[in-house]
Amino acid sequence: MEKSLREQITEISEALRRKGYRLTPQREAVIKILLENPNQHLAAEDIYAMVRKTHPEIGMATVYRTLDLLSKEKIINQLSFEEGHCRYEMESQAHHHHLVCLKCGKITEFNIQLLKKMEEALAAEHEFQIVGYLLKFYGYCAQCTPAEE
Ligand SMILES: [Zn+2]
Ligand SMILES: [Zn+2]
Repeated sequence: MEKSLREQITEISEALRRKGYRLTPQREAVIKILLENPNQHLAAEDIYAMVRKTHPEIGMATVYRTLDLLSKEKIINQLSFEEGHCRYEMESQAHHHHLVCLKCGKITEFNIQLLKKMEEALAAEHEFQIVGYLLKFYGYCAQCTPAEE
């Protein structure tokens, strides 16, 4: 069953409290934007523009500070796609990876079992306990690939 927005925010609020932080209205506003826009990989500027609609008193610096704190506490994921700025998504989103179009910037998510096998093989071969990894494929999406004549 899908959790409601309220339930998700309550869980995050409890997680923050365990770490010694309060869910301030500013933090809640930022989290809400990310929860309401799953799979969007929003940049800080996008989040700022959306937050301002309901909380015009929130400044850009507050949005950045909030995103930093939430990333540090592993509530959200900070993603870098080599664009000169970061994008953000909720950590709770199912584990997935990204295909990045170099032309239009479209980000497609994928999650394949093959990676699990690769992880196990690498761990065994190098006696290395893998706890996480980030994988990005760069290329061109269907709209940006010239059709073959
Ligand atoms: Zn993603
Ligand atoms: Zn594209």
